[in-house]
Amino acid sequence: MGKLFGLFGHPVGHSMSPTMHNDAFANLGLSHYYQAFDVREENLETAVKGVRALGISGFNVTIPHKVAIMQYLDEIDTEAEIIGAVNTVVLRDNKLIGYNTDGIGYVRSLLELVDKEELKQKSILVIGAGGAARAIVTSMLRFGAQNVSITNRTIEKAEELVEHCRGQNMKILSLNEAEKGIDQFEVIINTTSVGMSPNIDEIPLAIENIKKGTILSDIVYNPLKTKWLALGEEKGAIIHNGVGMFVYQGAEAFEMWTDSKPDYARMKEIVMKRLGG
Ligand code: NAP
Repeated sequence: MGKLFGLFGHPVGHSMSPTMHNDAFANLGLSHYYQAFDVREENLETAVKGVRALGISGFNVTIPHKVAIMQYLDEIDTEAEIIGAVNTVVLRDNKLIGYNTDGIGYVRSLLELVDKEELKQKSILVIGAGGAARAIVTSMLRFGAQNVSITNRTIEKAEELVEHCRGQNMKILSLNEAEKGIDQFEVIINTTSVGMSPNIDEIPLAIENIKKGTILSDIVYNPLKTKWLALGEEKGAIIHNGVGMFVYQGAEAFEMWTDSKPDYARMKEIVMKRLGG
């Protein structure tokens, strides 16, 4: 019998996850179904009880529930615990187990561009210290990245992140310091919302002096090519947008739920089509 999966968030009307997952199920001949549920904050606990009562096999969690969901689960995976947020839940042996696939999804998307061992040695700068930065930094460090620096508009939040993610050897830079030393970095990742539609003329950090061949990565995917990425491309950077992170966080969840590997290229194509790419 087909299983039911879902997404809990508010709002969820814009979500690309149902189309992406339902196509992947059908493509593998699985008769499962993925439904987006618009769950308001005051209904989250009841919704989780509903998961148990109805035997929903797993679900994704998005804004605004990624932190609040944790109190209603039976177990939290170590990486999600360090990140402090859950975006994927699996019902296993009648237990609800929370995971976070955002960070590992991001790392997998970057590995499309760079060799695993090379990435570990690269000099990496992360811009931002919010939820997405926490997920990315945690996964990067667990993956084995040796040389990660962080910069953020509010420096105290960068300090909190480093403490939270147990980033013993991480450097914390002001935006000014990061801009001055920009040519030292081989991978620069924007995890802030700066440049996202409708504020498409904003950039998160000046990159006039980046070296040719630097990987410039922006987790924003709306627009597909932010002004920052376009500027980087002019400077000879290898550019990378947020579509891969979105697809791979979904693929990781899909793999946990079904023990099958989806067709990533097909998932990406569906998402690109939805984004007008
Ligand atoms: P968040 O927790 O609210 O963090 C926002 C971050 O952006 C903070 O570091 C904040 O700096 C910074 N920021 C916001 N506005 C700024 C401005 N005008 N100037 C400078 N810095 C600014 O948000 P989040 O959940 O981490 O999400 C961040 C972005 O990632 C969003 O655009 C989201 O859509 C995107 N995202 C993409 C994916 C994907 O799959 N591609 C997944 C998750 C998130 P302060 O600390 O100084 O406030």
